[in-house]
Amino acid sequence: MKRILLIATGGTIASVQTENGLAPASTAEELLSYIPEAREFCHISVRQLFSLDSTNVQPEHWIRISEEIREEYSHFDGFVITHGTDTMAYSAAALSYLIQNSEKPIILTGSQKPISAPITDARKNLMDSLRFASRDGVRGVYLVFDGKAILGTRARKIRSKSYSAFESINYPVAAFIDENRIIQYVDGEDRKGTVRFYHHLKPSVFVLKLIPGMEPEILQYIGERYDAIIIESYGVGGIPFYNKRNFLSGLENLTKRGKIVVIATQVMLEGSDAEVYEVGYKAVNSYNVLQAYDMTVEAAAVKLMWIMGQTGDFETVKEMFYTKVSQDILTGALPGKTVSEE
Ligand code: ASP
Repeated sequence: MKRILLIATGGTIASVQTENGLAPASTAEELLSYIPEAREFCHISVRQLFSLDSTNVQPEHWIRISEEIREEYSHFDGFVITHGTDTMAYSAAALSYLIQNSEKPIILTGSQKPISAPITDARKNLMDSLRFASRDGVRGVYLVFDGKAILGTRARKIRSKSYSAFESINYPVAAFIDENRIIQYVDGEDRKGTVRFYHHLKPSVFVLKLIPGMEPEILQYIGERYDAIIIESYGVGGIPFYNKRNFLSGLENLTKRGKIVVIATQVMLEGSDAEVYEVGYKAVNSYNVLQAYDMTVEAAAVKLMWIMGQTGDFETVKEMFYTKVSQDILTGALPGKTVSEE
């Protein structure tokens, strides 16, 4: 039987009703007590790392989870992390960058209803995750939810209440899990070398969602406080330059000061292609501006934190940003290279 480490961090799955609303309280052992049948197909050990609503989860917690997995990596065949759903897509992306080329499964899961609720998705999600983590050949970071395994770099929370809370963005769902039947379509890791753990993130990343009427001075303000800014612009990507609300000089200032600027899109599917229109072409061809292409904003933001944890040199940032890690970027990706091979 496979040895699985269950790492509990809080979230709705572990929450109980308090006078101030739901708050995480159930321990890892208590979660497991709801699915005794899981011990029929795997050996499970538990760690309670913290007990937080994922709204309170920060980059330091991602490092903490990754360090725990690093310490226990050789002792277990797979890892299941219970986590709140609200920031789970960010944590899944973060673990995908902090732990690369894992030959073992690292699965994040949670639920929309507490495991103690009479009607809940928690037991299914936890069982599915343990089953997926016990399966031969599964490697890398996934988010398992509502019968789907989604690559950690491709997940987004798209529903705030329904059980089908997550979707795989610009990439196929990697596997469908229906009790014992698991149909896996996609393998997450390209299998380049052995597992590599990273230890540093620089969380100095701001995401700016453009809306019509926004004043361009905001760029100056952000530049004083952050080292990287992702502009969630419109459609395939464009930066307003019309009349009194011209963002281009602000963009020029930021890039001249060595700030990393990435154009992304607020449209959920299909990504950016900023050179299509004049509004995007000017921005990406006049300044040192990157674009997210088909990456999720969640993955792009965390990828920048990971890259800036290692370098501040623009050309290196650019090369790393466009280098595929766990299938995070396909359009615009540099062919045949991974950072960890260097
Ligand atoms: N607020 C909760 C959390 O993210 C929501 C959930 O887990 O579904 O921790």
